[in-house]
Amino acid sequence: MGTTSRYRATARVIAAIGVVSLVAACSGNGGGGGDAASYPDQNITIVVPFSAGGPTDTVTRMIAEPMAAKLGGKIVVQNVEGAGGTVGAGDVARAKPDGYTVLMHHIGMSTAPALYKSLGYKPLDDFETVGLVTEVPMTIVARKDFAPATLQDLVTHVKVNAGKVTLANAGIGAASHLCGLLFQSTTGVKLQEVPYQGTGPALTDLVGGQVDFMCDQTTNTSGQIAAGKVKAYAVTTPERVKSLPDLPTTAEAGLPQLKVSVWHGLYVPADTPQEIVQKLSEALKVALADQGVIDQMAKLGTAPVPAQDATPEAHRAKLDEQLGTWAKIIADSGVKVS
Ligand code: ASP
Repeated sequence: MGTTSRYRATARVIAAIGVVSLVAACSGNGGGGGDAASYPDQNITIVVPFSAGGPTDTVTRMIAEPMAAKLGGKIVVQNVEGAGGTVGAGDVARAKPDGYTVLMHHIGMSTAPALYKSLGYKPLDDFETVGLVTEVPMTIVARKDFAPATLQDLVTHVKVNAGKVTLANAGIGAASHLCGLLFQSTTGVKLQEVPYQGTGPALTDLVGGQVDFMCDQTTNTSGQIAAGKVKAYAVTTPERVKSLPDLPTTAEAGLPQLKVSVWHGLYVPADTPQEIVQKLSEALKVALADQGVIDQMAKLGTAPVPAQDATPEAHRAKLDEQLGTWAKIIADSGVKVS
């Protein structure tokens, strides 16, 4: 096993041990199942396609415990990183459709088909949608000692220093990548992108001063912004975020075209029995109504979706609409597909 594989294997074990539930890590999760009446009678794994400690991971761990309590089972969170979330999503697309392997993914589910020539899965065909979870604002943040003081200064700075400025992201297809693409197409500047396996490690490097700036969800950046460990320029939603009241919106700060919020949803492989999909969706609704979850999300600048959106139908409609929207925006932006 090479260093990278060994690192990944270790990271996965650590991520699996640091779980919400009462499981012995690595206890059997494969094989059998699919019986809706007795579901769940073994551990459920929620695959997070980015690093532990990042925003997608944070949201998943918030809802996993109340979902497990409602289902009367145990949920393990497993981080399967790589290629902007497409490695983990591909793994789940190919998993047994028995309800024991679930995917948490975000807006990247709708952008990846336009960014990759051969993705290995089709979002609408290879998954059952379970329900939407939350829609998270993004922030544009920089290392603390990065020279530009405002978003307008940042735009001027990157125009003058294009070749030198580094922009972190979580790989092609990640929300941070998408927001960075929008920033570059809006400003007309091509930056040096530095890809990570998730924005958890990217933010660590930003705090450490190894990269200049990035876009990331408030679910990851709020704590570091509040602690003054990073410089924040703007939030990418039309309204300011209650938990970060002093942070202007991109429109207020002079870049009204840069708007993005990161919707998240739960998926299972296509052909998972509908009764199981419904059980998962009901558990998701219970988790999203949990006061602890609502409070934790509010602290991190977000909120659960309304109950009627935590359904397979609402989620599928959103995915369908977003696939069309982003295919056009990405095609119009002239981004090179890899
Ligand atoms: N959600 C982040 C992004 O798309 C990645 C992560 O969760 O680490 O950039």
